[in-house]
Amino acid sequence: MTAYADFYRRSIDDRDGFWAEEAKAIEWNTQPQQVCDYSNPPFARWFVGGTTNLCHNAVDRHLKDRADQAALIAVSTETNTEQVYTFTQLHAEVQRMAASLQELGVQKGDRVLIYMPMIAEAAFAMLACVRIGAIHTVVFGGFAAGALASRIEDASPKVIVSSDGGSRGGKVVEYKPLLDDAISQSSHKPSAVLLADRKLAVMNIVAGRDHLWGALREKHLNAVVPCEWLDSTDPSYTLYTSGTTGKPKGVQRDTGGYAVALAASMKHIYCGNPGETYFSTSDIGWVVGHSYIIYGPLIAGMATIMYEGLPTRPDGGIWWSLVEKYKVTVMFSAPTAVRVLKKQDPALLSKYDLSSLRALFLAGEPLDEPTAQWINEGLDKPIIDNYWQTETGWPILGIANGVEKKLSRFGSPGVAMYGYNVKLLDENSGDELTGADQKGVVAIEGPLPPGCMQTIWQDDARFVKTYWQSIPGKMVYSTFDWGVRDKDGYFFILGRTDDVINVAGHRLGTREIEESISSHPNISEVAVVGIADALKGQVAVAFAVVKDASGLVDAAAHAKLEAEVMKVVDNTIGAVGRPARVRFVTVLPKTRSGKLLRRAIQAVCEGRDVGDLTTMDDPAALQQIRDILS
Ligand code: ATP
Ligand code: MG
Repeated sequence: MTAYADFYRRSIDDRDGFWAEEAKAIEWNTQPQQVCDYSNPPFARWFVGGTTNLCHNAVDRHLKDRADQAALIAVSTETNTEQVYTFTQLHAEVQRMAASLQELGVQKGDRVLIYMPMIAEAAFAMLACVRIGAIHTVVFGGFAAGALASRIEDASPKVIVSSDGGSRGGKVVEYKPLLDDAISQSSHKPSAVLLADRKLAVMNIVAGRDHLWGALREKHLNAVVPCEWLDSTDPSYTLYTSGTTGKPKGVQRDTGGYAVALAASMKHIYCGNPGETYFSTSDIGWVVGHSYIIYGPLIAGMATIMYEGLPTRPDGGIWWSLVEKYKVTVMFSAPTAVRVLKKQDPALLSKYDLSSLRALFLAGEPLDEPTAQWINEGLDKPIIDNYWQTETGWPILGIANGVEKKLSRFGSPGVAMYGYNVKLLDENSGDELTGADQKGVVAIEGPLPPGCMQTIWQDDARFVKTYWQSIPGKMVYSTFDWGVRDKDGYFFILGRTDDVINVAGHRLGTREIEESISSHPNISEVAVVGIADALKGQVAVAFAVVKDASGLVDAAAHAKLEAEVMKVVDNTIGAVGRPARVRFVTVLPKTRSGKLLRRAIQAVCEGRDVGDLTTMDDPAALQQIRDILS
């Protein structure tokens, strides 16, 4: 067996021995008594009896060896500011924030909702919360009042930390009016609001409730707030899923298991070393931002870059200029961002010295082959796809180059990561599919490894019902993704289980058809949905974004391109996958995190109610589809 195959097998066959070893990478105040308590499935309790603290592991423990090294690098191309905080400075800022939260009444177990742009204060707030045992709920700063209100309602925070505003593409986005609106919509009212004033907008201060961070910080300049030693199983935070398939779920994470999982992933998957710089282009409002902007890199003793701004401003080379300037060794982004860069001058990819960079990781949605190839050739660096979910907190599928160097395969996010007993199951019978190239639901046998969700916030029953009871006759965690595994154990994600199309009895993942269509040289992006059809059950309909639309002058040109695209599908998948129609649009409806909202497109096509769209980015995209159909 290869080194990784051995490593993986041990993580499953000798689960407790394996994770006991990994647990040594973090500092505990009290050592765990038991590695995993799975006496009440599907609820897993990791490192029972151990006490630790995330902030201690992310900040305090590094003061010994790297007090004056960079910890947090906050870059904004919106306000043209750049500030580097050493571990010592970060430690001080976090304690000032912690003392301020305590003054506002926050205690262990209380929730603090963080609704902030990508500024250093957001990191201070997250770390301050976990330092004192408060549970943070970060809500993406791009969400409007409705989405924010439902999260305030669900999380019932004692305090909300926010700011006057953010900025996007040079345009100020005021947060304070949205926040006030959200609080008035919610039946739960926070007792205090702490506001960072960036002087981007004038704030309407509610007397008695609203407090300015600047003033409280001043007051607590010399604050000493020790880390609260928490039980390993105490919750550290809740975070809502992206809402691609419906109403977002409040994922609850523990403390010790999460710290261990992140430390292990930094070593085995991302290969980041202390003293180096990690750059994740995500947002703290998403799980990638939690795990790989804030906690993972800092736990590993790395500096982490927090970036506010577009990937294309001042130009499409901005990210690579940061790689050069801060000698970034590990970078993490999303396919959607790479597709944005793909529309820019490719020369920008080779303009900067990227010699420090070892790999670019991408996750969050399917990485289509043309996009992967483009960035791979442009950067001349390994591109590593990894597949995971808000629920899991770290990769389910990937490549563990820290254990054994392996090449990625385009189109595949890799093999099962250690700790995840990944199965492909027949969704009707629940039978395990062990053969190569069989399509099934990607499922995980319990217990989920450390770092994964403990439950849905205040709804154990929904946790069990949603995730563990969807496969007949088996208590197994469903990812709700559809996949296939080749003979070498590499998985390919074919789409979400509710994105499977059944054409005259043939089951096809929308992803397969999309992948095929996007290989057409003039298509930059595409969404395929299944639409009810009286004859065939369902038919596929594609909405494609054209790279160069200058030739699409009339109906004949549309018909010609449509026929070409259909031909591509005929040649790669076969006529069974051929969409009934291919429509051309300029933009596709997506969530704020860049995921295609196929369910919304499908609902519009079938004339149904579109459901919860609070996480949708640009409503004009869906309108375009409505217009085409009418
Ligand atoms: P919701 O659960 O609320 O509908 P969501 O599933 O989009 O929203 P996330 O947890 O942000 O919320 O996304 C996880 C999902 O993203 C996965 O289940 C999968 O569908 C998709 N995904 C993530 N990474 C990859 C990848 N590398 N390749 C293919 N799909 C991916
Ligand atoms: Mg999901």
